[in-house]
Amino acid sequence: MRLLRAEQIVKIYGDKRGVGATTALNGVSLTITKGEFVAIMGPSGSGKTTLLNLLSGIDKPTSGFVALSGVEISRMTGDELALFRRKQLGFVFQDFNLLDSLTVKENIIVPMVLEGKSSSEMDNKVDELLHLFGISHIANKYPYEISGGQQQRVAVSRALVNEPAMIFADEPTGNLDSTSSETIMESFEKIVSTYETTILVVTHDVFAASYCQKVVFIKDGNIHSTLAKKGDRKEFLHQIMDNLAVLGGKSHDF
Ligand code: ADP
Repeated sequence: MRLLRAEQIVKIYGDKRGVGATTALNGVSLTITKGEFVAIMGPSGSGKTTLLNLLSGIDKPTSGFVALSGVEISRMTGDELALFRRKQLGFVFQDFNLLDSLTVKENIIVPMVLEGKSSSEMDNKVDELLHLFGISHIANKYPYEISGGQQQRVAVSRALVNEPAMIFADEPTGNLDSTSSETIMESFEKIVSTYETTILVVTHDVFAASYCQKVVFIKDGNIHSTLAKKGDRKEFLHQIMDNLAVLGGKSHDF
């Protein structure tokens, strides 16, 4: 089932006719099916963040459209979009974005409080997620008392509590060591298989991308190529590296 559809999206920053205009995306079309786990990769400045922002309704395209679950989000007003995003989407960021004055459990509960869920429903859901990610023992700790990897698992749990149709993750392993990166990517795999959640990750990290089922490579605001996983993860990792070599860009970008 098709979940997300972007059709010929163009994003121009600045005055469209002006000298300072930048074409960040130049007619990108993309479909993502329910339960897919997709990475977007490309050199710095290629348009990855812009694409993530347009697909998740954070920003609007200059032209073209984006539809999620059959609803055209690129036409929604600010209020409609805010509600839609709260109910349908989950976000995970590079720097976790947890609230330092709240415990792990309270951080995870926040989005459910906003939705007015009952306290028994909230407790059950939090317990389920804490258990799923192996962080039940830190439920009453504060973010500054736990490791980066644990903080990111809390952030992933928080993104999941309202059972979103889709999760968007922007460089989720950017601030993590390799062991924590592995744990987070395995958590995403678990979410996809347990809840059939659709996940889109923007990443520079070849290792992280190798956990996904598909990688979309972008260059200069266009889709350059798409690679689907066929063999095992290690084989996929080598294929991704080969593709990045063809794509060019500076080696420190990856
Ligand atoms: P990436 O995430 O791949 O590094 P971005 O989507 O951030 O790429 O940027 C794509 C292009 O758009 C770059 O040339 C960047 O300088 C430009 N750009 C991004 N955001 C803005 C903005 N708010 N205003 C003007 N130009 C921008």
